Amino acid sequence: MISQIIFLCLFTAAIVMFSLNARRIYRNIKLGKPVDRTEHPGERLKLMLLVAFGQKKMFKKPLPALLHLMVYIGFCIINIEMLEIVIDGIFGTHRVFAQMGEFYNFLIFCFEILAFGVLFSCIIFLIRRNVMSIFRFKGSELKNWPKTDANLILLTEILLMSAFIIMNAADYKLQEMHIPPYSAAGSFPISNLLVEVLPNNTSTLIAIERSAWWFHIIGVMLFLNYLPISKHLHILLAFPNTYFTKLDPKGKFENIESVTMEVKAMLNPSIPPPDGEIARFGVKDVQDLTWKNLLDAYTCTECGRCTAACPANITGKLLSPRKIMMDTRDRLEELSVHLSSNPGQKDDGKALIDDYITREELWACTTCNACVEQCPVNINPLEIIIGLRQYAVLEESKAPSSVNAMFTNIENNGAPWKYAQADRANWAK
Ligand code: SF4
Ligand code: SF4
Repeated sequence: MISQIIFLCLFTAAIVMFSLNARRIYRNIKLGKPVDRTEHPGERLKLMLLVAFGQKKMFKKPLPALLHLMVYIGFCIINIEMLEIVIDGIFGTHRVFAQMGEFYNFLIFCFEILAFGVLFSCIIFLIRRNVMSIFRFKGSELKNWPKTDANLILLTEILLMSAFIIMNAADYKLQEMHIPPYSAAGSFPISNLLVEVLPNNTSTLIAIERSAWWFHIIGVMLFLNYLPISKHLHILLAFPNTYFTKLDPKGKFENIESVTMEVKAMLNPSIPPPDGEIARFGVKDVQDLTWKNLLDAYTCTECGRCTAACPANITGKLLSPRKIMMDTRDRLEELSVHLSSNPGQKDDGKALIDDYITREELWACTTCNACVEQCPVNINPLEIIIGLRQYAVLEESKAPSSVNAMFTNIENNGAPWKYAQADRANWAK
């Protein structure tokens, strides 16, 4: 009874804390500007199933894709086992689903194979991250906490899967010894191999089985509450993020509606200029981004596929689209803390531009869209870069000299080149 009460308290605390964190993230995403991403729901659903559920874009690199798929399927399916653990924890039962008979044996068989697959994949991922020299894991933005975060989560998954297998091994041995309540249930192709190394003493075996059980379930509860502060939030957000992908062709840029109206009014006096003062041109801080940009930031897995494909980064420029997303998330989190502790005070004196993302990074972008194309969860770093550039040009009149020269040419000649309109056909001579 005491263990049931302890379990119920821990479980309730874990769910309440997770709900509070989820609400905080939802509130932060809602700080963004509105944008409608609801049209063509059928197409969106298909995209989500292909990209998030089917991990279509991951398979551009088959080996990591297969390992990632193993972890992903393992994560999803082993959660069925979690349901049994939770029911057992609340009601004090043991392997409550064992009544399913042969089907239960089949399920446990699958869980064991998957648990081993997850264990194996996580060990390979750890080696790839820490021992092998892989370009996309070496960016300066991956130092310190992001590197620790990635390793921490891999180690946690290894420990959780190990606890699961040890628990099953001890359980299986107790079943063989006919110790109640460990009646024959399940099929154990992996943990079966550990039975010989476990002690024969009944009470030690029960202690091992119970310790592994508690370790596993407490580990899962901690994992759940670690997600909101980790890049691993993508395991939940990849689904809405792909569903709300922009469906327009990638090369199509959004004009600022108010500027378009202003220009139209200047060219055609019959069109009235836009009413009222325009709050902001472009993006200075995270509130000027759309909620989808902010959802992107929370969904970023920090995998670096975007940066590895970015021509600016490859040629040694300061720009890394992964850093753009990480900076956006960090700034949003910082602003969120400020808003919580200073209700009604919207400005903390900092901004995404300059305090997080430098001008040098912004103007290194070629707007090629390679980052958008590569992202396995359909994130768009380019939209953020363009928004920040719009702010720099339209509100601050700050642009690199080459861009300013082009603006002058457009103003004087109606074209980006420095020739007078009358000389445009000279090349033909
Ligand atoms: S659009 Fe910009 S940030 Fe993205 S890959 Fe191209 S150059 Fe890099
Ligand atoms: S933006 Fe996409 S590709 Fe780039 S690091 Fe994040 S998840 Fe990976």
